[in-house]
Amino acid sequence: MASADTVLKPDFASGRRHFIFTDEHDRLRESIGAFVEKELAPHADEWEETTFPDSVFRRMGELGFLGLSYPEEYGGQGGDYYCNLVLAEEMAKSNSGGLAMGIAVHTDMATPPIHLFGTEEQKQRYLVPCIKGEKISSLGITEPDAGSDVSGIKTRAVRDGDEYVINGSKTYITNGHRADFIVLVTKTDPDAGYDGFTLFLVDMDLPGVIREKKLQKLGMHASDTALLAFQDVRVPADAVLGQIGKGFYHIMWELQGERLIGAAGCVAGAQRAFDKTLQYALERKAFGREIGRFQVIRHKFAEMATKIESARQLVYMTAWRFQNGEYPVREISMAKLHAARIAVEVADECIQIHGGAGYMKEYGIERVWRDMRLNRIGAGTDEIMLDVIGRSYGL
Ligand SMILES: Cc1cc2nc3c(=O)[nH]c(=O)nc-3n(C[C@H](O)[C@H](O)[C@H](O)COP(=O)(O)OP(=O)(O)OC[C@H]3O[C@@H](n4cnc5c(N)ncnc54)[C@H](O)[C@@H]3O)c2cc1C
Repeated sequence: MASADTVLKPDFASGRRHFIFTDEHDRLRESIGAFVEKELAPHADEWEETTFPDSVFRRMGELGFLGLSYPEEYGGQGGDYYCNLVLAEEMAKSNSGGLAMGIAVHTDMATPPIHLFGTEEQKQRYLVPCIKGEKISSLGITEPDAGSDVSGIKTRAVRDGDEYVINGSKTYITNGHRADFIVLVTKTDPDAGYDGFTLFLVDMDLPGVIREKKLQKLGMHASDTALLAFQDVRVPADAVLGQIGKGFYHIMWELQGERLIGAAGCVAGAQRAFDKTLQYALERKAFGREIGRFQVIRHKFAEMATKIESARQLVYMTAWRFQNGEYPVREISMAKLHAARIAVEVADECIQIHGGAGYMKEYGIERVWRDMRLNRIGAGTDEIMLDVIGRSYGL
């Protein structure tokens, strides 16, 4: 604290870390960041064409990055939720939204329900190899006729003796082509409303599981996105994940972690685009000076930095609630909505500041915009986030 007789100097660019993080998180950040920059980032352009290879999962499993907050007894690192934030943030250094998304689906979307709701046998069979990177997971909620309206899904699982028979289809499934299994949302009792849903763990090599189409996308090209069909797929009764009839509530819980980690990725992606663009604006000259010295451009950076910081604080404070046992659906929805919006706005402004270069592939800024655009749609659209937030006030 300064006293009256000292000269007060503003702490611009203060390096003080956020209170949720510790020295241990810093060390983790350093090791993930070094790995991403050395082993992943150099391949970003190539993987835009080919999608990233499965070997990335095995390598990240070897390094312990796929189970940062899972218990050590399952091969995890036993860390807290903030370790997952660190991973999501450092993955932005890969310069590949598609790669970051493929990994996040595995670590923060498909495997958390197995950890929380799975039986010991399911954890040994699916969670342990996922943490090692030996099995790749995917998550199937969306269908051709039902995305935002999860309760409108049509995929049915019907009990038949000791088995269930599954029929239906899922679309836009990340990792759907490479996955060894899928956490599948089905309806087991169409007359039971929200109590008629059940999750299943379905191996993708079972007869009747058809990987129909590799879908072409605007961005996230390094990830694979599948249209899947399930035709009379027979699974044993012990493939049920969690409680029969409670799948809707289970998947709504899963979506909270998915949205929060997505929000963290958005902030990190926006920061990365900002940093690159700042560098550019300090070097690129027009009318005899660096473009960053024009007031208009300077203010664009000020706007972007303020947006990024506001989203970051919202993500960190919401993560703090989450880590401390709250189920903060309103704040997670706000964080997801705000972070996704600002990431797209920042990416767009960064293209503008780059001028023609921003439109060219070699600068990588147009890719950030294409990749980030998904975040206003995936894991719950802006409109759905607004609705969740609005309803939380009793409206
Ligand atoms: C690249 C990519 C990867 C994805 N990965 C996965 C995955 O791994 N697993 C998975 O299950 N899904 C995945 N998704 C699906 C994604 O979560 C859905 O696309 C998203 O939830 C929106 O659903 P929809 O596409 O059916 O849009 P729709 O629900 O048809 O919505 C269309 C429009 O209507 C609006 N709308 C709908 N309902 C309302 C309402 N009540 N009030 C106001 N507006 C409304 C929406 O906001 C949107 O603007 C992925 C999608 C993409 C594009």
